[in-house]
Amino acid sequence: MIDLADALVELLAPLSPGEELAGATFLRASTELGLRLTFEDAGELVHVEVFADAPDTKHAARSGRLLFAYRAGATGTKRGEALCAAVAARARRNEDRVLERLARHAGDGRVREVEVTRALEPAGRAEQPYFTLSPYVGCLIGCRFCYAQGRVGLARRMRGLTTAPWGSYVDARINAAAVLARELEEVPPHPIKLCPVVSDPYHAIEAKLELTRACLEVLRDAPPRPVLVLTRARLVERDVDLLASIEGAQVGFSLPTVDDAVRAWFEPRAASVADRLEVLAALRARGVRTFAVVQPVLPGDVDALADALAAVADSVSLDVLRGEEDATELFDAHAEARDPGWQRDRLEALTRALDARGVPRWDGELPPGVG
Ligand code: SF4
Repeated sequence: MIDLADALVELLAPLSPGEELAGATFLRASTELGLRLTFEDAGELVHVEVFADAPDTKHAARSGRLLFAYRAGATGTKRGEALCAAVAARARRNEDRVLERLARHAGDGRVREVEVTRALEPAGRAEQPYFTLSPYVGCLIGCRFCYAQGRVGLARRMRGLTTAPWGSYVDARINAAAVLARELEEVPPHPIKLCPVVSDPYHAIEAKLELTRACLEVLRDAPPRPVLVLTRARLVERDVDLLASIEGAQVGFSLPTVDDAVRAWFEPRAASVADRLEVLAALRARGVRTFAVVQPVLPGDVDALADALAAVADSVSLDVLRGEEDATELFDAHAEARDPGWQRDRLEALTRALDARGVPRWDGELPPGVG
């Protein structure tokens, strides 16, 4: 199986990371937040995003079979467009070979064992950098509002795979722990997050493959750094002792409501509210710092949620609904939750309730005191 990030680099051949294209320095390819080629242009990061050609995809340039768009900070539109055009010109020469090789090695199973050449993906702002670590791509919990499904679908299309329902497929990165061990000797001591960027670290297949556990064992044996684990699965309970042995580990659950009927409506294959609270309490009892993520706020008693969180979470991250993905029908039955005003009001009420209980809150990517 070919590493998709390596294939993205190959699109630009003979250009290699560290070399210049259209006056910008090519830094890396990555697949966690979409298929990205990242450049540095006059001190700014510019991400050129790569898409398999499909109708209605916004783009700044096209090669024969691929589309390119850009995300940039202060870099102007003209620079982004020029960079996309330069990338498209390179890709035009290489895409047939790269896409055919990807398709030839794509495999067709719903659960595929894949090998990667890198495990850590740089993330975060320059003033608060961290790495994401994903032993799996694709998630068997399959929440319909999941923000990861679009990104992971892009990667499947790039490999020429047929579309499959979200929650029905996963790539298991079987050498992730070995690659991580090598990378930890080279990278700066930024925090590492195992979080649902492209999968849940404790979805069902982890019980059999133990790839997340193997990565945690590597982190336990490496020099200490903050390690964050975010999940919706009870299976994390299996690793309580291991997590307790990792200096700097924090474990969180997503917990958007205290009402388990609402939870079951939106997240039918994830752990119940009671399970999540119980596991957080067990982690805390073993001395592991805990956190919870409430995003979006779903219907349910806000004070009861604040009480529950105050009892088991050392900090709470809050945010509103940012898109329904495939969960539109689910929101039809809880229409109030899709209203931005309702989300804002609930968030403010929960903020007040948490403040009254002295629970620290955060709204960035990392809990207080990390990074
Ligand atoms: S558990 Fe997380 S990663 Fe998995 S489907 Fe649900 S939201 Fe997505």
